[in-house]
Amino acid sequence: MSLLVVGSIALDSVETPFGVTEDALGGSAVYFGVAACLLHPLQVVGVVGADYPFERLERLARRGIDLSGVVRAEGESFRWKGRYSFDLQNRETLETHLGVFADFEPDIPEAFRDARFVFLGNIDPTLQLRVLDQIHEPTLVACDTMNFWIDGSRDVLLDLLKRVDLLMINDAEARQLSGDWNIYRAARWILERGPRYVVIKQGEYGAVLVDDTDVFYVPAYPLEEIFDPTGAGDAFAGGFMGYLARTGEVSPDNLRRAMVFGSAMGSFAVEAFSVNRFQEIDGTDVAERVHRFGELVRFEITADIEHVGR
Ligand code: AMP
Repeated sequence: MSLLVVGSIALDSVETPFGVTEDALGGSAVYFGVAACLLHPLQVVGVVGADYPFERLERLARRGIDLSGVVRAEGESFRWKGRYSFDLQNRETLETHLGVFADFEPDIPEAFRDARFVFLGNIDPTLQLRVLDQIHEPTLVACDTMNFWIDGSRDVLLDLLKRVDLLMINDAEARQLSGDWNIYRAARWILERGPRYVVIKQGEYGAVLVDDTDVFYVPAYPLEEIFDPTGAGDAFAGGFMGYLARTGEVSPDNLRRAMVFGSAMGSFAVEAFSVNRFQEIDGTDVAERVHRFGELVRFEITADIEHVGR
């Protein structure tokens, strides 16, 4: 089933305790794409400036990413600059330069409008809405956002929430959006505003999927080395949506498996700078990591547990 992502295509300059990058491939659509394409072909909609190293994107595209919806506009590419704290827990945005994204009018190619699985990556919610207006009959629409838009475009974001099936954000964003420090109450607050599902990502503490009746938790993969947390959330989304598109089914069990694929892809993203780790792995590595997740959380409930406390 067809999978479409719209999001930022960026040049990232990132500083972590382990090194720096300058003008590296990044952006929500790029991280999403490199993860999702390991599971299912996808179509990307976005814009780059004349200065974007497009041949590097094309190299990635050989894995099944259709770039025909990426516009090459006059002007400068979207650039983002961030710095992480020593423990990689906090990130400070040093610069957000919208460049060609400031005047971007997404025009979804006719061939993409039948997409069944749609991910509205982190960009201006006004643009996310315009994309949604052009899609005919999606099976599942998920979206992401961040503090920049929660602060600056709150009303549009709330309009968008009425029209999406799933919101995928991190814990700090869920707190900021809902005004509640408790992530489960924050999830409830979000569910009351439209989406049927909420995924709240908690970095190294994993992620939760919440709907009206259930909560499902997936841990983060236990890694001893983390180089650059940038893009983990988008890679998570790529794994999650890639798995749903591959299987074509939005059942409760499948959503749970999609969470594990998401967490597996997030763990690959942080193992190297930029999208570099994704250039080294294939489906076998993904499957192996997903199996390890099974081991990580597997335990038997034995009969004697019933006697505890008696
Ligand atoms: P994540 O670490 O998953 O939150 O995603 C980081 C990516 O988001 C980076 O590659 C940035 O280029 C991109 N990004 C940062 N700020 C924005 C923004 N305001 N709009 C769209 N994309 C952004």
